[in-house]
Amino acid sequence: MLETAREFLLQIENYPISEKIEQKLTNSDRALFILHDQLNLEVFPKEVLAQKLLLIFVESLKYATFIPHHKQKLVYILSSQRHFAIACHQQGFPVINLFTEGFHAEVIADFLAQYPQIKLTYMQPSEWDTRSQMLALNDQFSDRIEILPNNFFIADAEKFKSKIKKGYRLETFYRELRKQTGYLMAEGKPVGGNWNYDKENRKALPKNVVIPTVPEVEPDAITQEVIELVKNYLPDAFGRLDKFGYAVTRDRALELAQIFIETRLANFGAYEDAIKVGAPFLFHSVLSIYLNNGLLLPQELCEMAIAAYEQNTVPLNSVEGFIRQILGWREYVRVYYEAQMPQVRESNYFEFFNNLPQLFWDANTDLLCLKDAITNVLNYGYSHHIQRLMVLSNFSTLTNTDPRQLNHWFWLAYVDAYEWVELPNVLGMSTFADAGILASKPYVSGGNYINKMSNCCSQCTYDVKQKTGSSACPFNYLYWNFVDQHRHSFIENGRVSLMIRAYENKTEDEKIAIRDSSTHFIKNFKS
Ligand SMILES: Cc1cc2nc3c(=O)[nH]c(=O)nc-3n(C[C@H](O)[C@H](O)[C@H](O)COP(=O)(O)OP(=O)(O)OC[C@H]3O[C@@H](n4cnc5c(N)ncnc54)[C@H](O)[C@@H]3O)c2cc1C
Ligand code: SF4
Repeated sequence: MLETAREFLLQIENYPISEKIEQKLTNSDRALFILHDQLNLEVFPKEVLAQKLLLIFVESLKYATFIPHHKQKLVYILSSQRHFAIACHQQGFPVINLFTEGFHAEVIADFLAQYPQIKLTYMQPSEWDTRSQMLALNDQFSDRIEILPNNFFIADAEKFKSKIKKGYRLETFYRELRKQTGYLMAEGKPVGGNWNYDKENRKALPKNVVIPTVPEVEPDAITQEVIELVKNYLPDAFGRLDKFGYAVTRDRALELAQIFIETRLANFGAYEDAIKVGAPFLFHSVLSIYLNNGLLLPQELCEMAIAAYEQNTVPLNSVEGFIRQILGWREYVRVYYEAQMPQVRESNYFEFFNNLPQLFWDANTDLLCLKDAITNVLNYGYSHHIQRLMVLSNFSTLTNTDPRQLNHWFWLAYVDAYEWVELPNVLGMSTFADAGILASKPYVSGGNYINKMSNCCSQCTYDVKQKTGSSACPFNYLYWNFVDQHRHSFIENGRVSLMIRAYENKTEDEKIAIRDSSTHFIKNFKS
């Protein structure tokens, strides 16, 4: 591994922007360290940028390998950072690219020790570990370090943090943010009279609906170079690389955002929860990737969507649905992360200890809904929200899988995965591992839900109409088994849910069959 690491570094050390490094360093007394997920100068204070400070970028081998990130995620992170560094250089900033076998903070420490005249500014990292490692530098260099607040989000996390506890739900937070930003508000009231239009959304996909394509971006020479690096030096990383087609610059990401607004946003709301075999993107934006490393900013996407609504090109239910995801969910999970870390990382409310099934690594399964979702992840480092929530996480919970293993998988498997956004979605929203701080009840369902929202079941070897037995859809009996075994988690506001009553109404024979089928499936399930 060490030899591989050295070779990896040797390759990238020839990179053009690290030339004349000494000259830049002796001429500088202040530097700005920009992390790989902070690639947007608009967010940095004008007075900092006006000084045309030396900009430092770090390529950290340990960050690239501490979990076996999807190959496309590695290419995306490295290539977009390199493109950004070059763009800054072209705008007149002196730029250096530091390489390290360690984490970012290790090379920054060496750098500060080597150039004692340089004072360093950086923006607070979004991810906990990077933040802690950087903070530890203060022990040695506190008088030379300035930390800027993280400006990549709309909500002030400090203001909302203390509210994150059981009972404080997304809806309250979202309405406050709507008022704060004025998005889709008119004279203090929500545009159209309602805060949400969910009843017009969440439809199944009609058979003959035409799904617009999401354009693929041809990798340029810089991306090709990074693809070769990852292929040669990190072959054990997760997923396929040959389908890489993401944008790696802000300009191209903005073009893709515009294409989404023009071709898919109108149907975004209606088909937000639909699933179709072989159609990974449907009417989703596929923009989280760019939002999460700063190529796109949340405000500008909300404003682009609102502008389209004001020009009458898209309906209110879709625009509100889209704003709710970005201004609501995305901001909410980030505040949750700030409030709940680090203790939430170890949460496992149901005390599930089964290993993550092998199928999460290779898509080798005959449960078609699962196969399709994981195939999308292997191919693109992406699957849309409802596959993440109602297929992958649902299955993981129903098979008593350790939610921390699922969390680890989601962190490495998706191109848009950074811990601040992935962890709350997995341990909070999807698996109820946090005991109901984020979600009011576990997101679990039987095959009926998947059948209603998708075309998977009609092509699957399992029968979604059968409730128990070897050819029945496993989601069916696993769901009722879960309701039976974890009934306390369905008690909301002191009221027993309809689900528990429905289970109680089953005959004793039915209950035995559910238990037997579930025990047999969980015990024998390999892939
Ligand atoms: C188990 C699980 C894991 C997830 N892991 C991640 C992750 O690692 N990174 C990530 O960005 N999102 C994550 N999400 C949230 C959501 O699924 C993705 O943001 C979305 O699927 C990204 O695809 P898109 O850009 O096409 O989104 P769209 O469906 O087009 O939604 C628009 C935007 O809204 C935001 N958004 C929507 N839902 C959420 C949400 N629940 N939390 C945060 N932002 C949201 C995203 O920025 C997204 O780009 C996860 C959800 C679940 C259930
Ligand atoms: S029948 Fe069950 S396992 Fe098969 S696709 Fe439908 S929900 Fe998934």
